[in-house]
Amino acid sequence: MKKIIVAIDGYSSCGKSTIAKQLAQYAGYRYIDTGAMYRAVALYALVESRKSKVESLNSEHIVSMLSDIHVDFAIQLDGTQHVTLNGEDVEKQIRTLEVGNMASQVAVIPEVRRFLVAQQQKMGEQGGIVMDGRDIGTVVFPNAELKLFLTASPEVRAERRFKELQEKGEHPVMADVLADVNDRDYRDTHRAESPLRQADDAIVVDNSNMTREEQMQHIYRIFDAKVKCER
Ligand code: C5P
Repeated sequence: MKKIIVAIDGYSSCGKSTIAKQLAQYAGYRYIDTGAMYRAVALYALVESRKSKVESLNSEHIVSMLSDIHVDFAIQLDGTQHVTLNGEDVEKQIRTLEVGNMASQVAVIPEVRRFLVAQQQKMGEQGGIVMDGRDIGTVVFPNAELKLFLTASPEVRAERRFKELQEKGEHPVMADVLADVNDRDYRDTHRAESPLRQADDAIVVDNSNMTREEQMQHIYRIFDAKVKCER
């Protein structure tokens, strides 16, 4: 059976990575979390700026760091993947609010996008992947056989993000989390380079009122139908 490319795009905190991971497992495909790659670049920039005591980093600074950054994924014994930054497993460090916010700032820099998109295209060239992000169906794989665009209301997404942060031992403030969701949406949809937008041929899944199970069953049906057509 042909191994297709599944591109999953959508707003932050609408459960993209959970859905993409589960779909990859169902299909027996590799999962690639492109957000983790932007987060790894952001983490590098934050650490470097602290080391050199620079208050705020400009784009040139960040672009000059790219040649020192190697982002990859390490497969764990349980089959999950952890992002690595210059060989170091940084899966935990990249999941904070601060790094997420910085990621959406480095993601507006065209050179950063080109640097990561080239790697993503290479990772997916053989097919058999589920890749999630903001520009997968529009820029990274405009010819992907299946494109899903996930969405949910900002309030529902802020609620989910709030719980996730609490579970990680952080002490978020709901108003900050909602503001962060709205800020990120604005930046992701208004940046000049590869703004988040729904590809014309993407299937929209609004999961505001779906349980995870309902949503997965819906997505499995879409995937199965697509794979049958591509055979
Ligand atoms: O998906 P996640 O929240 O981990 O992504 C972090 C940030 O990286 C996003 O807010 C977005 O600005 C950026 N990003 C992007 N393009 C992608 C994946 C993530 O611009 N393909």
